Amino acid sequence: MAKLGFIGLGNMGGPMARNLLKAGHEVKVFDLSADAIAACVALGAVGVEQAVDAARDVECVVTMLPAGPHVAGVYGGADGLLAAAEKGTLFIDSSTIDVETARSVARDAETAGMVMVDAPVSGGVGGAEGGTLTFMVGGTETGFAQAQPFLDVMGKNIFHAGASGNGQVAKVCNNMLLGISMIATSEAFVLGEKLGLDAQTLFDISSTASGQCWSMTSYCPVPGPVPTSPANNDYAPGFSAGMMLKDLRLAQGAAQSAKASTPLGAMAESLYALMEQSGNDQMDFSGIVKLLKGDL
Ligand code: NAD
Repeated sequence: MAKLGFIGLGNMGGPMARNLLKAGHEVKVFDLSADAIAACVALGAVGVEQAVDAARDVECVVTMLPAGPHVAGVYGGADGLLAAAEKGTLFIDSSTIDVETARSVARDAETAGMVMVDAPVSGGVGGAEGGTLTFMVGGTETGFAQAQPFLDVMGKNIFHAGASGNGQVAKVCNNMLLGISMIATSEAFVLGEKLGLDAQTLFDISSTASGQCWSMTSYCPVPGPVPTSPANNDYAPGFSAGMMLKDLRLAQGAAQSAKASTPLGAMAESLYALMEQSGNDQMDFSGIVKLLKGDL
């Protein structure tokens, strides 16, 4: 069993750290929230007072933080993780952050003699709790091989996406596609309804025809056809519209720096920004159907 550090014990990081504990690892935990630390300590973790303390005398540190500036802040500088850890420590950053920050922190880690992978996830809080997350990993073959046993504890599907930052690239590309396909599916249901077509009938036809996609078959944005979808639970998340907006903004930032043309991604970002402006960013992202219907 290994000694690990875990920093960022929120909705995702909390259950991920708990799964590492359940697997028998020794885990030092840190968060800005004392309650989040206490919840892990109750399950056998060692709570520490500063992020750097979680990086000392451990083989691996996992970070699960809100965004790029938090990651750069925690890793960098004279009082950051990279300065505090022993050379050769493995760092796994599972936060969803911009590609540029992921690559620059990984470069700094390498310069400091560390091994680092970016390993953003999909699967949401349910996946974090069940240990069934999908990890998209960017980094060297060695880094991937070292991270895999720990990722296996927290996830089910672990993909090596290539060099540093490529985990984040896979994540933003996938979520841009998801945002667009959810809007497209929603538009189809709104149009069908206005033209007098019952939602279940449209679902039965389209889910076996060429319009079929995950947003329809697994997460249908209208109540009825897919009983487990948030549409049947008043659009409680799930995956919130605010989190989708965050990922679409990251995708647009990445597209700009790569000079890629992503017009539907840009449109999706604008529509999810309207969800935010109307005060509905905590609604599930499939609630975009209500915006399109004029119900928000
Ligand atoms: P969260 O806001 O619930 O948790 C973030 C945690 O980080 C909080 O507990 C906060 O106190 C802590 N934190 C912030 N700054 C810190 C610092 N400097 N030092 C220590 N702790 C600090 O967020 P979350 O839902 O757990 O998401 C974490 C990451 O995972 C985000 O990048 C998010 O985009 C990504 N993600 C979330 C989901 C989801 O469904 N929630 C799904 C996939 C990916």
